[in-house]
Amino acid sequence: MTRKDINLYSPRTRVPESPRRPDSRPVLHRARLVVPISQPAIEDGAVVVADGTILDVGPFQLLRRQWLGAPARDHHETALLPALVNTHAHLDLSGLAGEIQPKGSMAEWIRGLLAVREQLDQDHLQQARALALEFLPTFGTGIVGDIISSGVFSGGLPNDMVITQTFVEVFGLHNQSLEVAIEQLPPAARSLLADGEESVSLAAHAPYTTSASLLKQIKEWGKAGGKVISVHAAESEEEIHFLHSGVGPLRDLLEERGHEPDKWKPPGCGAVTYLNRLGFLDPLTLCVHVVQVSREEVDLLQSSGAGVCLCPRSNLFIGHGLPPVQDFLSAQICCSLGTDSLASNTDLNLFEEMTVLMEQCSVSPDVVLAMATLNGARNLGLASDYGSLEKGKRWLAIRVTATDGESIVAAGRQGALEWVN
Ligand SMILES: [Zn+2]
Repeated sequence: MTRKDINLYSPRTRVPESPRRPDSRPVLHRARLVVPISQPAIEDGAVVVADGTILDVGPFQLLRRQWLGAPARDHHETALLPALVNTHAHLDLSGLAGEIQPKGSMAEWIRGLLAVREQLDQDHLQQARALALEFLPTFGTGIVGDIISSGVFSGGLPNDMVITQTFVEVFGLHNQSLEVAIEQLPPAARSLLADGEESVSLAAHAPYTTSASLLKQIKEWGKAGGKVISVHAAESEEEIHFLHSGVGPLRDLLEERGHEPDKWKPPGCGAVTYLNRLGFLDPLTLCVHVVQVSREEVDLLQSSGAGVCLCPRSNLFIGHGLPPVQDFLSAQICCSLGTDSLASNTDLNLFEEMTVLMEQCSVSPDVVLAMATLNGARNLGLASDYGSLEKGKRWLAIRVTATDGESIVAAGRQGALEWVN
């Protein structure tokens, strides 16, 4: 398989060079616009960096006086901003790019996905995964929350430009034990968990595929280790219908796959209400999609402090509509962005997700940029080091050929960006 076979990437992609060794002397990075995210953008701003750490951020003229003798690197007519954070991807599914035609039904889409995946050989899937990871930096993405849900992942990351937070996904409608669920995982995923890396956590697949007991144990496991737990929640009407009634297209799919849905007792409520009842929602929970929620459930998310990952293009692709983004913003819920997989999206470009939210949900450029950076880092538990250009954080930044918020998103979408660290 060549790059041409996987043709669903940005038309103007450039694979960045390997990162250079960080300069131990302070250097002033000057640009027409510095966008720290944590504070308003600074015209003719600068970021002082040494050893890969941000020492200062502010107006260039002021910093030049304060950091006498420090060399300046001029990024000219560009905007400097933190690297983007994609909080929900399934790199394992990259080999399915362009293979599944959506029919507006969640069950149909999953059925198609499973049928295609079962036909593809492991080599193809592994190469596609590696390519997807290699191309992420060309979209300005420096951090990805990746769901490991199949046997594709073989360990080892081919690209040190991307920081990966891995969520090993478990499910089982009748599985009452987390230990057993982990034992049933593919060996590579199991050994990832066994290594106990800080960057590895668990994901529960969804409330309609994971038993109440398993959901509770996954949450307890996360709490004990101070780890963010990811869960697909309230993605489709079919999911909510099944949770309420135990019937419908998802029941039929579970039956086909041998999961015995008739032996499972539906909670009789929406996905967010159910997760809340189980004690699953807290600031270390990342709910992905959250399209089908009531006003009360938005309040539940808000009071629990759980984060929400929006995947608008995936939702539109499968035919679920868009989440109530303005309600989330009014409730000050921490919303980040995810592309989901290439089985339900055309590329892994977060600037495209931002564009959909700006054009179809009236979200401002400043807000979508915060979702794609600082909120993403918060939702993955990485905000102490990443997500904004702030003193003390790591220097993981891109420059975009643009000088205001709206043109930043447009330029990023076109691939007019470069890495500066
Ligand atoms: Zn997903």
